[in-house]
Amino acid sequence: MSGKQICQYCNRVLTSGTVHEFDGVIMCEDCLDEHTVVCERCGERVWEDDVVTDDDYTLCQGCYDDYYTRCEECNAIISNDDACYDDDDVPYCERCYDRCCCGAIHEYGYKPEPIFYGAGNRFFGVELEIDGAGKDGYNAEKILDAANDNDERIYIKSDGSLDDGMEIVTHPMSLDYHMNEMPWVEVSDRALDMRYRSHNTGTCGLHIHVNRTTFGEERETQDECISRILYFVEHHWEELLKFSRRTESQMNRWAAR
Ligand SMILES: [Zn+2]
Ligand SMILES: [Zn+2]
Ligand SMILES: [Zn+2]
Repeated sequence: MSGKQICQYCNRVLTSGTVHEFDGVIMCEDCLDEHTVVCERCGERVWEDDVVTDDDYTLCQGCYDDYYTRCEECNAIISNDDACYDDDDVPYCERCYDRCCCGAIHEYGYKPEPIFYGAGNRFFGVELEIDGAGKDGYNAEKILDAANDNDERIYIKSDGSLDDGMEIVTHPMSLDYHMNEMPWVEVSDRALDMRYRSHNTGTCGLHIHVNRTTFGEERETQDECISRILYFVEHHWEELLKFSRRTESQMNRWAAR
């Protein structure tokens, strides 16, 4: 080795036994420890910036990609062997799975085959967001129990727009079914008992979906009817804004004109 070697990080002059080289960079031992880490699975050294880590694991990207994943809920690294998967194949650590999954809470994109309740040709699917008491599997089970006996009338999904809650979704139901058969009172009583709120939260919305065929058999008739609805909304925007109980900025964010 010719001439003096200098640590490229701290400029310390290195004596022959203290020279470390990684990825073409000459370093002292301290700087090596500071800027690189060793993957605990394969033993390869990698730059600190390239490491995949949490409180328990220190891994190179390759090992992480091949053998690990992250818990959807707490983001902890879990080995593929330890991961618990829900119905939608989303991975969870064991702790989060026990606490918040048990299949009770589906991911946001979940969309089952619709089951129609009630008679007629007009059906309403209601999505009611509740917030403030947790995205919690046990709570979800209690709410589901209030409405589902043999049949699934409601299901529950997670919703990123909520701080600490979830979304109750009904299958399509006639208005009469919603009013007289669907146990809305029990559902909301249980949610309220667990300290969920929907009204006056600033985060929660109530959405009602309706089937297109309610507006007529033909595409043309449907479109005409939809255009009359748009006309109505346009003409009564100010009143509807009040009725929606959203602020102007919430309206722009969630239901822009
Ligand atoms: Zn150094
Ligand atoms: Zn590795
Ligand atoms: Zn977790």
